[in-house]
This record gives sequence, C-alpha cells and structure tokens, in this order.
Amino acid sequence: MDMTTHGSMNDWSDVFDQDVFREYAEIVLGKLGAYLADRHVRGLKMVDPHELTESARQLMTENHQSFSQPDRERFEKLIDLYIQTGIQVHSPGYMGRQFSGIMPLAGAIDMIGSIVNQPASFYEAGQLPNVAERIMAKEFNRFIGWDEERFDMVSTSGGALGNLTAILAARNDRYADIWEKGYNNLQAIPAIAVSEECHYSVSRAAGILGIGEHQLVRLPIDAQRRIRADVAEDVLAAAKNRGLDVFCLVASAGTTSVGAIDPLDQLAAIAQKRGLWLHVDGAHGGSALVSDHLRPRLNGLSLADSFIVDAHKMLFVPTACTLLFYKNREKAYKAFKQEASYVFEKDVDNRAAAFDSAGKNFECTKRPAIVNLWAMWALYGQSVFSQKIDYLVDLAQAFYDFLATQDDFQVIHAPELNIVCFRYFPGAMCASAFSQLQDAIRNTINQNNEFFVSKVDLDGVTAIRVVFMNHLITEEHYTALVSEIRKIGQVLCQEFEIEQSN
Ligand SMILES: *Cc1c(COP(=O)(O)O)cnc(C)c1O
Repeated sequence: MDMTTHGSMNDWSDVFDQDVFREYAEIVLGKLGAYLADRHVRGLKMVDPHELTESARQLMTENHQSFSQPDRERFEKLIDLYIQTGIQVHSPGYMGRQFSGIMPLAGAIDMIGSIVNQPASFYEAGQLPNVAERIMAKEFNRFIGWDEERFDMVSTSGGALGNLTAILAARNDRYADIWEKGYNNLQAIPAIAVSEECHYSVSRAAGILGIGEHQLVRLPIDAQRRIRADVAEDVLAAAKNRGLDVFCLVASAGTTSVGAIDPLDQLAAIAQKRGLWLHVDGAHGGSALVSDHLRPRLNGLSLADSFIVDAHKMLFVPTACTLLFYKNREKAYKAFKQEASYVFEKDVDNRAAAFDSAGKNFECTKRPAIVNLWAMWALYGQSVFSQKIDYLVDLAQAFYDFLATQDDFQVIHAPELNIVCFRYFPGAMCASAFSQLQDAIRNTINQNNEFFVSKVDLDGVTAIRVVFMNHLITEEHYTALVSEIRKIGQVLCQEFEIEQSN
C-alpha cells in the first residue's frame, strides 16, 4: 500500500479515525437530543416494507472500488430513516409493547459498549461486564433473600434465551446423562408443565430441547388468567398417569397478554411436593421486585429454582438485557454441563476465571448489556426504578377503573401490573364480528399514528391491549385514547351495519 496516501479520503484507515467519529457522533447526538425532546403524542408510522427497502437502497453507495467519508447529508438521512421508522417509544402515544423508552444515559453507556467492544462472557475480555453482573446479582438478591453463598445469576440476551437456558438446566438436572447420551435409552418421557398463557418462548423450548410440544402439560387458568393452583395437582397427576415425567413447572410473573401473576407460593408448594423444578418467567413483571410496594405481589418467587427478569422491559435499559437467577449455583452450571468446581477455585491464578459467565450462558460473544443496567443503578439507585414502575402500575389501575365506568367498553381483567386489555363494546354482537371490530379499531388507531396499541386474542376474541411503559402518559392521554376508540368504533359499527344489511 502506498503510504503517501495516508490521510487522504481514499485511505481506508480513515474510517477508523477518531476525528471522523467525533464529527459524525455529534450529528447523532444532535438528532437523538431532538428526538428525545419531541413529546408529541404519536405511535408508529408504518412504512410499506418495499418502500422502506427502496429508501434504504437509495442511501447505499454504488461505488465498491474506492470510497470517501460519507457526505453529511447522506449520513443525516440514514439516521433520520432509522429514528423515524421506529415505534416512538419515548412518546406518550406509545402504549403497545413491552420494550421501554429507555433511560437515555443508559443508551450513552451502551454506546461505550459498542465502541470498546467488550464481550461479556469471559472476564478477560469483559472485566467490568462480569463484575457488573456479580454486583447486580447481589443487588437483586437483597429483594429475593437467597443464601448469598449459594445463589447465582447470569445475563442473557433476551428473555426467550433466558427461559430456554433455565429449562435446559432443569432438564439436565433431572436426567443425569442426557447431556452425553441424549434421549437414547431414556426410560422416562420428559414433559414440562406450563400455563395455558405461557409465552411462546416457553412452548418453543419444548421443541428446541427435543421434549416435543406434545409433552407440554397445559395448566388451566382462572378468570384473571392465572394458573389455577387448585386444579394443577390433578392435571399433573393425570399427566403422570399418561406416562409423562414432568420435570419442570413454568409459572409467569406477568403474563405477556395481560400481566397476570401466577400464584407462585402455591405453585412452589406443588412443585416441591412433586419434585419439580419451578421456573418463573418474570420477563415482564420480575422487575416489580425492586418496588417495596409491589414486591409482595411476587410472593413465593424466592421458592423458585430459577427465574428471569427482562431489564429492557420494566428496568428501562436498551434491548436486550435479561437476568437469569438460580437459587442454587451448581444448577446454573447444569444448563451447559460445566463442572462448577473451578468457580470456587481457591488458586489465585484462577481467581479471574471464576468471574467468567461463559459456563452459565449459551452465548460465547455476548453484548455487555448488563453494564448499562449497573451504570444506571450505580448512578441513580433503586428509587428511580421503583418509582417509575409504581407510577406505571398505578396508572394501569386508574385506566382500568376509568374503563370500568364506560358503558360502551368491556373490561376483562383487573390489572396486576401495567398491562390492560379491554374491548370496545357497542352492545350485543356475535363473537366473530366483535373480534373483527377490535382488530379494525386497533388497525385504525395505529394508522392514525397518534397512539400505538397492540392486540391479543383472549379466548378466541380479540382484545385491545395497552401496556404503559412511559411515565409521560397521564390520565389526559388514556382518556384521549378512549375517546379516539369510541369515535373510530362508532364509525366502524355503522360500516359493519351497512355491510350486514346489504
Ligand atoms: C417478553 C417476554 C418474553 C420474551 O423475552 P424477550 O426478552 O423478548 O426475549 C418471555 N416471557 C414473557 C412473559 C415476556 O413478557
């Protein structure tokens, strides 16, 4: 390579130049600042994916032989495209999903993670990430109360992976040789007990682990959509009679659909009696642990063998940051069948290796997302998190109370967390038209790009689903949402009637 070109715009090493970084990062900061300052009520502007592909393609260079630094205009367009095509999670109109409008400084810390690029599975590569993981484990355990010397936590990239890992640990714990021998010669038919309302990552785990979805034992739910502990025993006994060896019971602390919290203490008693591993999927609601006010709703959580919490949901840090807790450290190493012995290594040389999280997690190169959480916890402490969670849960209750007084709305469940599902109810309607109406309302709301709400199928009928993740949402916004739904609903009902009379 001709060294005389060094510094020219055609030198590839300029791409890695710190001044270029500063110049362009300033543009990013300016735009993100404006984005965060925008408090307009809006939802999601859905762009046709073909159109978006076209817009994205227009930003791509056609010159693959040489290059120059991107012109500012194109760089700005690229950032705008990224920002504008997202669900506006920082707007009070965002009421539809579980990922949060994040604490902005957590995003700034996340950028450090991207630049210094410290994968988090091994202490050597990710020193602070591994220490942060240990610290956050202990901070959380203040709310759980497990034996300091025995419990463990590992971070995973998302709740789906956290659930899979925990169920894998449970499986390997039950069937001693399965890691080596697979299902060959296994006498038992392994099965998992789950709620009818479990997250799809849980039922999917049965497929991934070779247990088979047919070996999912579905536990019935009550009107509040919680597992019915009173019939769970009978269902488990019946499964056993069918020859199934249920080794794990998965409960939810905050179902995805309505935020229902299963009766953890009662299920723990059943699990203990029958020798089952109790895993609690607290992806959504596990964060309530940090709230003194809400913690009692998770009563029984400390009796679980494992549970997960998604920090990118109700702990307001960037996606994806999941904490997977185990009551018993040795079991944390069962998922991937590592010997736990070196963890307790007394040898000074191995002290660092004892901080590796690799033995407990699937990912080899793992994003250091835990540092974002630790940094926010370090800088702000518990109360910011707990106050925001309390606010969101109270808001959901107030919204529910308001809905319950509206004659043309149907409430479905008393909210236990920050999720409220309901239907617009103009009067008697057949179930299929009733469902269609909710779908159409939801689509129209989202098309209008003022609010973003989701929907969920509850017992075969669509419900509109609101998830409060944003503290900027107030009574003013949810009453506006209700008026909007009513307005849309009335127009749609007229159209439906015209259709039916034709
Ligand atoms: C969101 C969610 C998951 C999945 O977690 P990801 O972080 O999206 O992978 C699992 N279980 C429940 C109850 C959830 O709400």
